[in-house]
Amino acid sequence: MSVLNPPPDALLARLEARLGPRGFTRDEDDMAPWLTDWRGRYHGRAAALVSPASAADVREVVTACAQAGVGIVPQGGNSSMVGGATPPAQGGVLLLSLRRMNAIRTVSAEDNVLVAEAGAILTHVHEAAAAAGRRFPLTLGAKGSATVGGLVSTNAGGTQVLRFGPMRSLVAGLEAVLPDGSLYEGLSALRKDNRGYDLKQLLIGAEGTLGIVTAASLRLFPAAASRSVAWCGVATPSAALALLRFLEDRTGPAVESFELVPRRALDLVLAYVPGTRPPLAAPASWNVLVEAVDAALEPPLVEAAEAGLLGDAALAVSEAQAEAFWRLRDSISEAERHSGPALKHDISVPVAAMPAFMESAAAAVEQRFPGTRVIAFGHLGDGNVHFTVGAPPEADGAVWLESEALAVSAFVYGEVGAAGGSISAEHGIGQMKREALAATVSPVRLAAQRAIKQALDPKGIMNPGKLLPG
Ligand SMILES: Cc1cc2nc3c(=O)[nH]c(=O)nc-3n(C[C@H](O)[C@H](O)[C@H](O)COP(=O)(O)OP(=O)(O)OC[C@H]3O[C@@H](n4cnc5c(N)ncnc54)[C@H](O)[C@@H]3O)c2cc1C
Repeated sequence: MSVLNPPPDALLARLEARLGPRGFTRDEDDMAPWLTDWRGRYHGRAAALVSPASAADVREVVTACAQAGVGIVPQGGNSSMVGGATPPAQGGVLLLSLRRMNAIRTVSAEDNVLVAEAGAILTHVHEAAAAAGRRFPLTLGAKGSATVGGLVSTNAGGTQVLRFGPMRSLVAGLEAVLPDGSLYEGLSALRKDNRGYDLKQLLIGAEGTLGIVTAASLRLFPAAASRSVAWCGVATPSAALALLRFLEDRTGPAVESFELVPRRALDLVLAYVPGTRPPLAAPASWNVLVEAVDAALEPPLVEAAEAGLLGDAALAVSEAQAEAFWRLRDSISEAERHSGPALKHDISVPVAAMPAFMESAAAAVEQRFPGTRVIAFGHLGDGNVHFTVGAPPEADGAVWLESEALAVSAFVYGEVGAAGGSISAEHGIGQMKREALAATVSPVRLAAQRAIKQALDPKGIMNPGKLLPG
């Protein structure tokens, strides 16, 4: 891959003239919030922050950078969990924010498609779909800041994957500027389109390394008439999985979310997130947050309790209580951030293997690294948990992270590999997992990924230092 150049003054002047004061800054204070990742682990530098207002502006920037061999880091809401949107520490690149391009272009209830620009925030997509009597089902804890472009580029998952799949299943078409500055106009509403290689699917999950998404057409679904949300105590992860299958048998496809929350995670939320309250009278070792749409959960939960599949349970009796239950789940990452240094792993294993994996891998990590505390929580029904290893309480957190991160993560990934899993379920690779990717995927897969990158971005200008190992 060729060596990149820092942006020449003439290029910066040309972009400043084109983008104007709202679209171009080199001011350190203006750029500062966007040079550190959400978790505060990565700090980067950039020669300028450019904020185009249109796909034509994006083309101008990319064409200029392609000619000059200058690196570009695309950024949406900057909520990446893997440092994907943070520029390299040595700088010498342009940070390209899509946040100004936030229009909802069209909503078609007939086609069941909504077209949003890359900078549109997920919450606004939800609102626009609802205003048309439809629903965009993907949702996640960062919905107030995550953008369409970021969600597409990380193939985000979230809490509705069980029924609707990740972004890959929900994107009907894309508009994107490719690394040579050309515009791919693929905002299709077609359900069927077999004209060879699917560029859209290549761009989904590419983490900005193959081009810049400028807009997406997203699949909509009928609005739900009602939802039923319950918080259930269960004895073990395997009891939780048995409960999921039981509920699916009774309600068909109505169960859309099934989130597993260990007591340790709930305790952190109750300690660090103001205004949260215990959902059950007596704390349970493991908790499940379950949501079913257009179906009542009470009858199957009563039956499940009689069958010994769950302990105590609380059914939300109002929308406010349902939201309060969801807030407990969605605040876990935030609570972890306040609770001290920890190593996060977003991993997947086959669903049937997950209960045993959760208990055996946690025990193995805590035995191998004495004093650590594992919290594994999340999307049990998708075979995806967030596996956090907290630093020993007596350790200096920063020193511990520096000295133990590689060994701890390698150990966790070893356990994941032994269970037939993946080191990245939904957060992507970013700059955090590049070496782990090289160590855990097959040479065949890695070579094909490199060939795709070389074909589309031969100068390596798109999001340098991310995803593919150096
Ligand atoms: C509290 C919290 C909860 C989360 N929960 C989940 C969850 O449940 N499931 C899940 O999957 N993820 C989750 N995430 C992480 C998730 O990946 C992001 O929230 C979201 O997908 C990223 O959107 P963003 O706009 O913030 O992208 P950014 O963080 O800005 O960027 C993410 C990546 O996409 C690239 N990118 C951004 N925009 C574009 C574009 N227009 N074109 C090309 N490349 C682009 C960036 O270069 C980077 O590599 C969570 C994050 C937080 C902070």
